[in-house]
Amino acid sequence: MTSLSGRLFRATAPHIPTPIARAFSAPAAVFFHGVESAAPDAPVAQNHHEKDEFAKIARALKANFNVLPLGAIDEVLRNPGRHPRALFLMSDDGYANTLGVAADILDDLRLPWTLFVSTDHIDTGTPNPMLILRLFFAEAADGVYRIPHIYPPVALAGVAQRASEESRVMRQIAELDARRARVAISAMAKTVGDAVARYPAERFLLWDEVRALARRGVEIGAHAHWHWPMNGAQSLRTLRGQAAWSKARVETEVGPCRFFAYPFGQPADVSAQAWRAVREAGFSHAFTTVSGTLDASSNRWLLPRYGLPMRAGNVASLVAMLRAGNPRLRRWQEEMAA
Ligand SMILES: [Zn+2]
Repeated sequence: MTSLSGRLFRATAPHIPTPIARAFSAPAAVFFHGVESAAPDAPVAQNHHEKDEFAKIARALKANFNVLPLGAIDEVLRNPGRHPRALFLMSDDGYANTLGVAADILDDLRLPWTLFVSTDHIDTGTPNPMLILRLFFAEAADGVYRIPHIYPPVALAGVAQRASEESRVMRQIAELDARRARVAISAMAKTVGDAVARYPAERFLLWDEVRALARRGVEIGAHAHWHWPMNGAQSLRTLRGQAAWSKARVETEVGPCRFFAYPFGQPADVSAQAWRAVREAGFSHAFTTVSGTLDASSNRWLLPRYGLPMRAGNVASLVAMLRAGNPRLRRWQEEMAA
């Protein structure tokens, strides 16, 4: 949520006492990325919760909500009034520490969850492109870099120029189809060397490990093949590949794959062609990262989801007040249907 109402919500909801907030509760979906035992490698690897803080969040969710397996989604969407405290818990990307750390915490609390994996990263172990980008701008030596599809060449010299080049390149690269963006990212990857060796929190699961989670009852969904926005700059061929190929890879390696989550998942990252490609690929439901609550008035391929805060704070009040996001969610879904 980056709208004004979203900022107000973030500022005020933690101060509403949980019992009052719970009276407003409606079914919702929430997600995290990874969970690390030791202090996460900030600021480069920003995706991971600290273990004790994550355990506090998980206990608060268990105490205040009815955390359900994602298989119950149709019943909850049809009858949201019967399930005001229903909550679906999810993890995105497929980091190895979901098996190493998060799974034990969630198993101890008997909380069901869904893992959305970006299948190319599970297949190859190549890092999340966002990690490569952040590392390139944090670590590449001063100089001029000719990066395919990025014009003019990237000039790194001093803190201020680094920051302005980073925002320019981030804007330009998000406007590239994934096939071209991959070429640009691999050129930057050569400069940053073996990123995953230095940032082990960013290591992805192997398929054997994904299967181990599935055997423990974790629902496995798809989070596209390569972790890239499915925005208006992506060709129809790319969008169809991101949806259909990720589903095929999960089904070959693990089993049936009904659920999808869009990488990044904000309105700028999901095009009207993207959700239709996800529907055509045969997914029954897909999740964005736009805040709101779950009911049958939503497009099933543009469902709302809320990123759990890094600190436990008053997480239960935040989750219970997610209906504050519904007006923005509705407006976006109407635009996307037109
Ligand atoms: Zn992701």
